[in-house]
Amino acid sequence: MRQLILGALLLFLTAAQQPPAEPTVRIGLTQNAATVTIRSATPFTIQQKSTKSAAFSSVLAIDPSASGPLAKADLQFRVTVETDDGAIRVLPAGSRVRIEAPAAPLEIDARAYRGAIEVFGNSRRTLTVVNELPLEEYLRGVVPNELNPVTFGQIEALKAQAVAARTYIQRNLGQYRNEGYDVCATDACQVYFGTLTEDPLATQAIVETRGVVATYDGRPINALYSSTCGGRTEDAEHIFTEKLPYLVSTACEFKHPKPLPFTTSRSIANWKEGVLAVAKVTNFTDAARFMGLPERGEPAATDPASMAAFVRQTFYPNVLTASDASFVTEQGILPPSASLPREELLFRLLDKKAAFDWQQGVLVAWDAGKMRLLVGGQPKEFAVAPDALIYQRVGDERLPMREGTWIGGELIDFRADAGTIPMLVYRINFANPAADRYSRLALWQVHKTKAELDTAVRSLAIGEFTDLRVIQRGASERPISTEIIGTAGRRTLAALRVRTLFSLRDSLFSYDIERNAAGGVIGATFFGRGWGHGVGMCQVGAFGMALEGATYEDILKKYYKGIELKKLY
Ligand SMILES: [Zn+2]
Repeated sequence: MRQLILGALLLFLTAAQQPPAEPTVRIGLTQNAATVTIRSATPFTIQQKSTKSAAFSSVLAIDPSASGPLAKADLQFRVTVETDDGAIRVLPAGSRVRIEAPAAPLEIDARAYRGAIEVFGNSRRTLTVVNELPLEEYLRGVVPNELNPVTFGQIEALKAQAVAARTYIQRNLGQYRNEGYDVCATDACQVYFGTLTEDPLATQAIVETRGVVATYDGRPINALYSSTCGGRTEDAEHIFTEKLPYLVSTACEFKHPKPLPFTTSRSIANWKEGVLAVAKVTNFTDAARFMGLPERGEPAATDPASMAAFVRQTFYPNVLTASDASFVTEQGILPPSASLPREELLFRLLDKKAAFDWQQGVLVAWDAGKMRLLVGGQPKEFAVAPDALIYQRVGDERLPMREGTWIGGELIDFRADAGTIPMLVYRINFANPAADRYSRLALWQVHKTKAELDTAVRSLAIGEFTDLRVIQRGASERPISTEIIGTAGRRTLAALRVRTLFSLRDSLFSYDIERNAAGGVIGATFFGRGWGHGVGMCQVGAFGMALEGATYEDILKKYYKGIELKKLY
């Protein structure tokens, strides 16, 4: 008995002394290549030979032992490899070539990879290329591609993304075992691009969460995530078939957004006058100077023909036209009568020539005259002039604002002079407190013509599109059952199918069908929110939560209900 206890104790001690090791991951980089060339800046060994490049092909080879008339069995698909000395070797049938990691990464096409590469022929008579490396190094090639660390550069959001990606891979190791690897490298699994997209902030997020996964009942969860949920995530079973206790609908909200008040000392009621004031344009001489064109003074006469000639010659000096009058009319600068208030004409010139240099961004932070905006996905800092002209855009109107509040996520049109904003127009974020309001796709709209609708429903074999009816919506308002009606039948479809059918960014939408007087369909507009399937972690929501001070654990426990974080190694 004592011996047994001792033995068990010893076993326990041995196990305790050896923490579980970090797993190795095999990623299928390609599984259908006709040829593949592998290079490295430092030599690597292939078939006992040192080389800096190896070009693989799948070729039809004749069995060298075959004699006399050839039978089908004498013809075999074999893999050949050419090294940098020009020697070509035919590899034994069924062999796998493994290249251990040299000092510099192995390169394939325009990508480079940590770890080892394996190449082998497959049953489709093409080449499969597998990258094998430790899991944490694999994540360095995944996390920055699944959540852009430049646009969404919040460390806690990236840590949440790192845990989600690590959890995904823990659960899906061996998914493609029959193909000779664990996971693919595309968005059908997780996007993996090797070393060239690695990013210091994303790597820091991986290092700081090393070995941590999200578990439910002690097992790694199915850590689904999508870009922008549009305000509320959806229950898994409404989008996919499987019901999971931790993938349930949740409001994409952390703390109620703090209003960010602003004031300005100047206001001009008419925004077009505001544009001219900021540009310091009161006459044609100013306008030409603002556009960097040679100054030609003011028009000598104001009759339509003279105005048209003056405008064309001053502002479009390089345009050759038979008629200045028809040119300025076609450009939408002057009406055929050529009579327009001078301010309006000056505004139109600036506008048509895009001279005001409007930029567009999403408001991320605002404090003491400093504004942080996402401009084309890049975070940028600006000062806002104390007398900046600020307008709120409502439909086509622009209302002058001396004071007001923002909450972040507002879409802002602005001009910047050497990093300072003298004028901006913001679109109110309709009291949308969702943590993912910083996404450009938090709100979207797409129009489809009748022809596009008919093409979209062709695969359903119900004739031409006549109507669409939402039968049931989920907790997030996503239509989870939709009937599509055609001239020759009707079909009821699930959320993802509708999204694919009409090529929508998300299945969260409402719609408006346009009809002619006879009731025939002319087109349809889809008004939507979000981007992705809307189940599990909302990535832009994770960014918004991190901005509001959430930790990665807060973020993960928000989107995955009832989970525990576990450090596996
Ligand atoms: Zn969200």
